[in-house]
Amino acid sequence: MDVLLVAHGYPPDRRGGTELLTAGLADELARAGHGVRVLAAAGVAGNPQVRDTTVESIPVRLLERPVPADYQLARADAGAQRQLELLIEEERPDVVHVQHTLFLGPEIIGTASRRAATVVSLHDFWAQCPLVHTGPRDHHPVRGDWWGAACFMHYELRHPLQLLGEVARGSLGATVKAHLERPRRFRRELGTADALVVPSAFLRDSFVRFGVPESRIDVIPNPVAVTPPSTERASNSVPVRFGYVGALAPHKGVHVLLDAFAAAGDGAELHVFGAAEDPAYAERLRQRATDGVVFHGSFDGARRDEVYASFDVLVVPSLVHETFSLVTLEAQTAGKPVIASRVGALPELVRDRVNGRLVRPGDGRGLAAAIGSLGDPEAVHRLRPQAAAGVLDLPAYAERLTQLYERVRAKRNP
Ligand SMILES: [Zn+2]
Repeated sequence: MDVLLVAHGYPPDRRGGTELLTAGLADELARAGHGVRVLAAAGVAGNPQVRDTTVESIPVRLLERPVPADYQLARADAGAQRQLELLIEEERPDVVHVQHTLFLGPEIIGTASRRAATVVSLHDFWAQCPLVHTGPRDHHPVRGDWWGAACFMHYELRHPLQLLGEVARGSLGATVKAHLERPRRFRRELGTADALVVPSAFLRDSFVRFGVPESRIDVIPNPVAVTPPSTERASNSVPVRFGYVGALAPHKGVHVLLDAFAAAGDGAELHVFGAAEDPAYAERLRQRATDGVVFHGSFDGARRDEVYASFDVLVVPSLVHETFSLVTLEAQTAGKPVIASRVGALPELVRDRVNGRLVRPGDGRGLAAAIGSLGDPEAVHRLRPQAAAGVLDLPAYAERLTQLYERVRAKRNP
C-alpha cells in the first residue's frame, strides 16, 4: 500500500512528539513493505521554497517558509494545498494520513479527501481551540456555531499586547470573525475525512462535544518503546527516588511538584529530567528546589531506559488536559508507579491506589500527601504495575493503522 503522510514538521528540524511519531510511523510502514512519502511544513526565515529531501531513506517534501504571525487562526494555506495536489497526482497514494494541520490550515484535509482516502490524526486540541493546551478553566460554554466566541475571549485576553495592536489597527472585527470561523472550518473539513484517530477516550469525548460524530472516531493509543521492567534499582532502595520527565513548563505543573516535594519529600530524592523552554521559569524552579532535588536537563532518546531505571516513582503534575501521556506509559512499562493529576487522559492510565495515585491538578497539599504516602519502599512496591494495559509498540501501532487504511480504502473503492 502507498501512504502519503502530511505533517506540520519533520525531524531532524522539528523534534516534537507528533513529528517524532510521524517519522517513527514512516520508518515502520516502510519496513513493513509499504510505499511512504511525506509532505511536511518547515518554519524557516526567508523566501518560501519547496525542497525534496530524504530522511532515513524516507522521501520528504518540505514546504519551507516563515511561520505567519497569526498562525493561531489557522488560515487556509493555498500553497500547501497546491503542493499536496501535485504530490497526490504524482504518487497516487492509496491513503493520505494527515498527522497535524498546524501551519497547513484545516483546508488541507479537504484537499486530500477530494482526491484520496484520507485519515486524520487528532493529537491535541488544535482543531478546537488556538490554545492547544487547554486546561480545566478554559471552557467553551457554547457548542456549535458560536464555539469560537470563547476562543476569541480566552486566546486574545492572554495576549493583551496583540489585542491592543488590533484595536489600534482597526482589525479587531476581522480577528473576532476569524476566531468564529476557525472551529466552523475545522468541523467542516474533519467532516470530509474518511476516519479520525485519537490517542485516548478523553480526547474522543471532547471531539464529540465539539460536534464530531463518535462513530467517525477510532481510539488508537500512541506507541511506546516496550522494554522489560528494570531491575537496576532494587525495590527496597532507600531513599525513595521520585522522577519528573518532560518539559519544564508552567502548564506541566513542575512548580507545584517542587513545592509539594519541599513539604513532603523528607529524606527522599526528586530527579527532574527535561529542558527548560523559558529561562525565567527555570530560574523560578531552581529557587524553589530544596535538598534532594536534582536537575538533569534534557536527555538523548538512547538514554531513555537508563533514565526510567534511575527512579522509583514517576510524578506527572500536569495542569492541563493531557490528551495522552507517553511518559506515564513509559514509566509503567518500566514497572514504576505513577502519581498523576486527575486531568485529561491521565485517569485512563493511572488508577488510584492500584498502580499509582491520582491528585487534583494544582493541589499542592494533595500532591504532598501522595508523595508522603510513597515515602517507603514497601509502599512503592505495593503499587508497582504488573503490566501497562493496552500498550502498543511501534510495529503494533503501525499494524492497527494499516488495518484502518485498508478499511477506508475499501470503503472508497468497493
Ligand atoms: Zn478555545
